[in-house]
Amino acid sequence: MNDIKYLVRKNILSMIPYSSARDEFTGDDAVFLDANENPYGTLNRYPDPQQKILKKEISNLKGIAESNIFLGNGSDEAIDILFRVFCIPGKDQALTFSPGYGMYRACASVNDVEMITVPLDDNFNIPEGFDFEVTGNVSLKIIIICSPNNPTGNTFPEDRIISIIEKFRGIVIVDEAYNDFSAKQSFLSVLRRYPNLVVLQTFSKAWGLAAARIGMAFAGEEIISLMNKIKQPYNISTINQQAALNALKDKERVHQIISELTEGREELASKLAGVKCVRKVFPSEANFILAEVTDADSVYERLTDKKIIVRNRNAAVKNCLRITVGTPDENKRLIEELQKI
Ligand code: PMP
Repeated sequence: MNDIKYLVRKNILSMIPYSSARDEFTGDDAVFLDANENPYGTLNRYPDPQQKILKKEISNLKGIAESNIFLGNGSDEAIDILFRVFCIPGKDQALTFSPGYGMYRACASVNDVEMITVPLDDNFNIPEGFDFEVTGNVSLKIIIICSPNNPTGNTFPEDRIISIIEKFRGIVIVDEAYNDFSAKQSFLSVLRRYPNLVVLQTFSKAWGLAAARIGMAFAGEEIISLMNKIKQPYNISTINQQAALNALKDKERVHQIISELTEGREELASKLAGVKCVRKVFPSEANFILAEVTDADSVYERLTDKKIIVRNRNAAVKNCLRITVGTPDENKRLIEELQKI
């Protein structure tokens, strides 16, 4: 599939985007009387709307051209924008798998898009034969695949995802928020091959910048320019752009933290497996572990009483808790409290 234009909402294609003062003049050696800013202060100027310096660094890091990168106020913003570019409210549909990341459904609801939810199989895999069912539905515009999946922690086989991208006549979003913790190759490596593919990544997890809200979407130029066309003009603050730039200066530290957290995950998984109230520990390629316990609600309460907060996923996966890998001390405290149950 080479032309994605026919998938785009007509009003988005035809609209004239807002052009900000900082879009119309770039450079910093000038008297700026164009944006009704305050001339005094250190944070008095609007941020770069195109985040050029940050995109250049990300481009160098990922080997992806700047024109193929969209930066959002978290990848949550990218998800919302993709719904708004492609899905006609009250008419179009999107599809994802369950259990999965709750924001897909929330963004779909906000945009009045029906979300079709396909249950994963017993091993939390995409069910056999799934990709053949989806090609005929013309209202289905977006398929979202989260790999490694939240909350299950597993990745899906690459060939299954590729087959969906190749067969589906719509947009496929592969959410790789947790890919840095997995040994699997990123789908960025096949980005050029598929004009309908969008890969999401984030600074919130491996880069430790959840507070700064910086998400990345990688896709063909056409999709990226449509996303830029409808985003809020100054969607990432100067402070947050700077936070990401600072983090990017010390890539070694990030690698170190990733290896500490992945080692911590394996250690935590084996400790959890030895705890009486834990029935099953699901293998994880993310920075969290899904564990089935005897009674998720009561184990959750007991931990919360001890000021250890995990995520109770009982409603999505029976009797399961999603546990983020913490520092060695935090993991130790968790295990100690679980052992008392
Ligand atoms: N995708 C997945 C799978 C997530 O789990 C999360 C955050 N929990 C996000 C996206 C959102 O990340 P961000 O902080 O970049 O908005």
